[in-house]
Amino acid sequence: MRVRAAVLHEPRTPLVIEDVELDPPKAGEVLVRVAAAGVCHSDLHLAQGALGEGRWPIVLGHEGAGVVEEVGDGVTGVEPGDPIAFCFVPACRECRACRAGRPSLCEPAGLHGMRGTLMDGTSRLRLLDGTVLQHGLMTACFAERAVVAVAGAVPLGYDVPLWQAALLGCGVVTGVGAVRNAARVCAGESVCVIGCGGVGLHVVAGAHLAGAEPIIAVDRDAAKLELALRRGATHAIDASAGDPGRRVLALSGGGVDHAFEVAGRRETMRLAWDVLRPGATAVVIGLAPRGVDVCLPAIEFLSDKGIKGCYYGSGDVAVELPELVGLVTEGRLDLGQVVSHLTDLEGVNDALERLHRGEGARTIVVLDDALAGAPTLETGGFR
Ligand SMILES: [Zn+2]
Ligand SMILES: [Zn+2]
Repeated sequence: MRVRAAVLHEPRTPLVIEDVELDPPKAGEVLVRVAAAGVCHSDLHLAQGALGEGRWPIVLGHEGAGVVEEVGDGVTGVEPGDPIAFCFVPACRECRACRAGRPSLCEPAGLHGMRGTLMDGTSRLRLLDGTVLQHGLMTACFAERAVVAVAGAVPLGYDVPLWQAALLGCGVVTGVGAVRNAARVCAGESVCVIGCGGVGLHVVAGAHLAGAEPIIAVDRDAAKLELALRRGATHAIDASAGDPGRRVLALSGGGVDHAFEVAGRRETMRLAWDVLRPGATAVVIGLAPRGVDVCLPAIEFLSDKGIKGCYYGSGDVAVELPELVGLVTEGRLDLGQVVSHLTDLEGVNDALERLHRGEGARTIVVLDDALAGAPTLETGGFR
């Protein structure tokens, strides 16, 4: 079938909105009508060619929600009509990482995600001239429809507007998962969040849910700091003025229990290390371009300080995503708050530009107005 999609033909060129050919789902796959998709920093990195060679032409988009339209042979657990959120690591449940309880590190999913294929190593997407297209992180949801592995379409289980559910499969799972699974933040512990964009704001909300205190948000953008305060941050520090590290140390009585780096930059990773109290660990969530190294004062390993990575929330998305939807329906986790812009598929390049400039929090691309249920100008929204 033909679908409209946002295609990256070459890195550092604008995405082209065009019709592409999408093949039907094979065994173990589903066809999803995409309602809405979030524009994430990883899309920007891919668009800039910062994640390595050979990753184009590609249909980008890996955070989104929609409704299942068709299922391939052998699919159980979802049926046509089910609302789902995408999961870009469709765990195989059989590899070494999956058997060790680390499905976010699933080996075949990681491999095929890098190659831009689905789990059988092939693509369902072609340009109209027949050129094979890669699937962005096994999802490719900057398109009207997407074919994904069944584990890449997680049933929501509850009723939540799809323009908000679109955020779940990357930003929310990553941010809240880092707090719960990677750092295991406990009530009363102090937290510093460096970088308050689409993912960092979910780290702030996760820390608030965990009962952390204080929660110190650091960013260079005043609007994002304002959002962080609304999501439970107790202090906001403008990183563009003065020495943010010194101010975090002063506010936390000599260092925090947990620092989260969500900017993907050498200097902010170092800042996350510098604001730790002895015995504490920094969690790096931010995605840095290939070739970025971090330098640490090694003498400080003597004080039991640690630094670790976190990919996709370090948990089990199939289990945690419906749980997060539950928190949304209980009113304990607000998703709409982090959305600074709503747009259509044509607006995706502007959204990538804003991310590049560090402006705004999350842009949601609405692909199907009726399904997404997003506010419009007439209903008090901003689109
Ligand atoms: Zn993402
Ligand atoms: Zn696996």
